[in-house]
Amino acid sequence: MFDTGPSAKGTTAALAEAGYTPDQIDTVVITQMHGDHIGGLMAGDTETYVNARYITGGAKFDAWDKTGNKTFEAKMRPLAEKTTFIKGGAAVASGITGLDAFGHTGGHMTYMLESGGKQLLLGADFANHYVWSLAYPDWQVKFDQDKELAVKTRRDILGMLAADKLPMIGYHMPWPALGYVETRGSRYRYVAHSYQMML
Ligand SMILES: [Zn+2]
Repeated sequence: MFDTGPSAKGTTAALAEAGYTPDQIDTVVITQMHGDHIGGLMAGDTETYVNARYITGGAKFDAWDKTGNKTFEAKMRPLAEKTTFIKGGAAVASGITGLDAFGHTGGHMTYMLESGGKQLLLGADFANHYVWSLAYPDWQVKFDQDKELAVKTRRDILGMLAADKLPMIGYHMPWPALGYVETRGSRYRYVAHSYQMML
């Protein structure tokens, strides 16, 4: 499972609808440590995914370690012993590779999923709005911690997705959050998978 949503309750309800129980989750990958990603790791003092091992970027943990962030302390810190820290380029499971995508937060990572010769980028939060993050990738965003690095990362990833015609999942893209990226001059456009005519 990638990330845990803002609360254990909401995410476990969604899992139940998909036919899974929390104890069936054996690996949880955290892409970055804002509340909408790590909020569901714990419900109070109780670990939500008791049989899981946790994977996250080492740089990310270090970055949040020093901030005294309340959500990090409540949700991520208690699981540090069960957490494996990776660097960009590391595989977290067969066909799933972590990629450094720093900027939105210190240590933010994306993941390339490969299966049957096809690729899909789980982009997490590298671009936060389906119109302006792509049309104006240089615009600085309030939620981006390192704004210049976030712009560079956004441009690098958008350029790669457009050039290779790769599908992406963006957490803050409109439902179902799966789409493609098209070039528009030196900028980009989001093409929702549902509206894909031909690429
Ligand atoms: Zn997010």
